[in-house]
Amino acid sequence: MTMIVAKSDFVKSSAEVKQCPADGRLDFAFIGRSNVGKSSLINMLCNRIALAKVSATPGKTQLINHFLINDRFYIVDLPGYGYAKVSKSLKNDFQKIIRSYILERENMAILFVLVDSRHEPQKIDLEFMRFLGEEGVPFAIIFTKADKLSEKQLNDSIERYKSRMLEEWEEMPQYFISSSAHSVGRDEILDYIDGICKELENAN
Ligand code: GDP
Repeated sequence: MTMIVAKSDFVKSSAEVKQCPADGRLDFAFIGRSNVGKSSLINMLCNRIALAKVSATPGKTQLINHFLINDRFYIVDLPGYGYAKVSKSLKNDFQKIIRSYILERENMAILFVLVDSRHEPQKIDLEFMRFLGEEGVPFAIIFTKADKLSEKQLNDSIERYKSRMLEEWEEMPQYFISSSAHSVGRDEILDYIDGICKELENAN
């Protein structure tokens, strides 16, 4: 049975990892390029109309937003990623706040990497996932805005993405298809989160 989101509360915005909640609950984090549909997805998962909209203003201080779900775990809205401006090499050079969250946040259970289901695999997304792989960070992909494609277009697009991933990954990472406009993917993502919560809670 799918988890019921009875309660979702905005807890805080943090400009640094050390400011993030320190109560030991698990983080389920969401990231992607700006405009990928992250706020809409988080709102869909949390049953909210406009819980997460903090990320909207470009150029604003980049913040990590924590939402507490059912007093049990956090949904974490990370800043949209881009390459750090100063970098020449580009390699693994994502913004400091993103890097440090990913590398230092010990209670992060999984990172959901959002990609627009309409787009061809983008270099920055592939590079970001490569970085996660190198660092051993558990992640899953969410293909967003599925309602913008026909079923055939969507299948083709996912197949194209899989082929590209399999050029460098042994297997396709766990993935989900979502549409915040049509509430698609909600149960699957919440079930997945619930499963990880149970697994990690039992391990402790
Ligand atoms: P963010 O910048 O990643 O947080 O993206 P937003 O959630 O603000 O969404 C960016 C734009 O895409 C907005 O105009 C949303 O209305 C639109 N959008 C987001 N998710 C969906 C979706 O599932 N379907 C459709 N059709 N549009 C979406």
